[in-house]
Amino acid sequence: MAEAIAVPQTSAQGTVTPEGTLSVREPGSGKLLGEVRVSSPADVRHTVQQARAAQSEWARKPFAARRAVLLRFKELLLERAGEFCDHLTRENGKTRNESLFMEVLPVADAVHWYATHAEKALADERIPLHLFPHKKSYLRFYPRGVIGIISPWNYPFSIPTGDAAAALMAGNAVVVKPSEFTPIILEKTRALFEEAGLPRGLFGVVQGKGDVGAELIRSGVNMIVFTGSVATGRRVNVAAAEQMIHCVLELGGKDPAIVLPDADLDAAAKKISWGAFANSGQTCASVERVYVHESVVKPFTEKVVALARKLRQGEPNQYDVDVGAMTTQMQVDIVRRHLEDARQRGAKILTGGEIQLTPDGARFVQPTVLTDTTPEMAIVREETFGPMLPIMTYRTEEEAVRLANDSTYGLSAYVFTRDRSKAERIANQLAAGTVMHNDTLYTHAAPETPWGGVKSSGLGRVHGKHGLHDFCEVRHVNLERLSFPAFWYYPYSKRAWSIGLRVYRTVLGRGITGRLKALFGKQ
Ligand code: NDP
Repeated sequence: MAEAIAVPQTSAQGTVTPEGTLSVREPGSGKLLGEVRVSSPADVRHTVQQARAAQSEWARKPFAARRAVLLRFKELLLERAGEFCDHLTRENGKTRNESLFMEVLPVADAVHWYATHAEKALADERIPLHLFPHKKSYLRFYPRGVIGIISPWNYPFSIPTGDAAAALMAGNAVVVKPSEFTPIILEKTRALFEEAGLPRGLFGVVQGKGDVGAELIRSGVNMIVFTGSVATGRRVNVAAAEQMIHCVLELGGKDPAIVLPDADLDAAAKKISWGAFANSGQTCASVERVYVHESVVKPFTEKVVALARKLRQGEPNQYDVDVGAMTTQMQVDIVRRHLEDARQRGAKILTGGEIQLTPDGARFVQPTVLTDTTPEMAIVREETFGPMLPIMTYRTEEEAVRLANDSTYGLSAYVFTRDRSKAERIANQLAAGTVMHNDTLYTHAAPETPWGGVKSSGLGRVHGKHGLHDFCEVRHVNLERLSFPAFWYYPYSKRAWSIGLRVYRTVLGRGITGRLKALFGKQ
């Protein structure tokens, strides 16, 4: 079984050692943080079987019993917030404040929300039948069984733990396969769940690279929630289809922000900079493109550049550092490629643009603001996932909407204006799973709102009532209240045909006169 072990030996980030372990190095210092043992295919199957065994009893427990365990987990997490943040910052490279505000506190809040709202959200739902009032119909939400969660390295705690909390409250077990780059935090999470009273095996963790994720999909789980890149998401979708299991995909984004001429430029610059640079830009919903009305582009750009220059970057585990480290070398290489491509095609770098790699293995990318970027550039078309902010202009609202929608992605989009009706008009034309007005990123931390994308950004939704429903099989129950003879059964006849047509024409007829004509007139 996977477990966290501290081994003082050196091996590269994310590689499996000959001893069958994955080593984790701190992105902010290059130091070895620890190692986890990689799960074999037999371990994966065993973990899923254990989860299934624990789930049948858990599903029979009343909501109140599940709620008590999750609320205890939340309390323990809030008590140990400092310890969890310290670990997250070491393992992922985000700053100490980001570990608190973007990982630990949103999880505490999400767990609280699912614990206190799941019962109502998953209560039976009546369906009044307009043609068959003598029948009673309702939907009942049954847990699916064991949910496989495959999660990425950028939010290694908040993404899988938030999804797990919803799945558990719905009566499921979960088995999580964390990213090979950030595997230890989920071992700590499992231990905390067990301390909170969660039955052993109900929250399983398997460790390893993509092959272990692929094994998890084949191991008898009843649903997969995958968060990661579009390329892997496609493979996961096919693998889930082969098993005929439900699959939710939370994939990448190239999220645009539109700044209207009447926007509060100070607030827009502040919120857009944070949306672009937080977590070193390694957020699925990061602001990756800004379209500013040409009349205000100069002051807006000056404000963003001034803010970017003030950001303090460095060893992330300190309170007064704003921008931390890049989690993986692979991501640094993508950012470098996008920057080079932009430079060669004529983009201007107004601030930033430097990549710092230390001999110990720490890696930082400076918050970077670019102008003169064009739609052909990789930095405008592909997901960059680094602290890069290309600023472009538009002339008309239609043009802004067209440019924002000109992407294969559609995760989130942002509109900045003082005019609420304009914001709403634009929001309703943007092809995105979420549109925020005068804000960025934050609704991922609002557990009552659904999260997910359109186009290549994914399939299905997590969070909120929709997410809770998705962790369930919906079964329709139809009961007879009164017994009536029906006209569509055997034996068929001309008379039955006429009655049927008369009934439907009456019910579906146009206006009261049309209906009366259908009821009493000739067929
Ligand atoms: P990857 O797609 O590389 O990996 C995601 C997870 O899938 C990892 O645990 C990975 O394991 C695993 N995996 C890899 N291959 C397979 C396979 N064949 N079958 C099953 N599992 C597999 O994504 P990243 O970890 O690089 O995450 C970054 C991406 O995630 C970005 O595109 C980002 O936009 C997206 N994302 C989307 C979010 C959303 O809510 N929409 C939120 C956060 C991130 P391993 O790492 O061990 O190889």
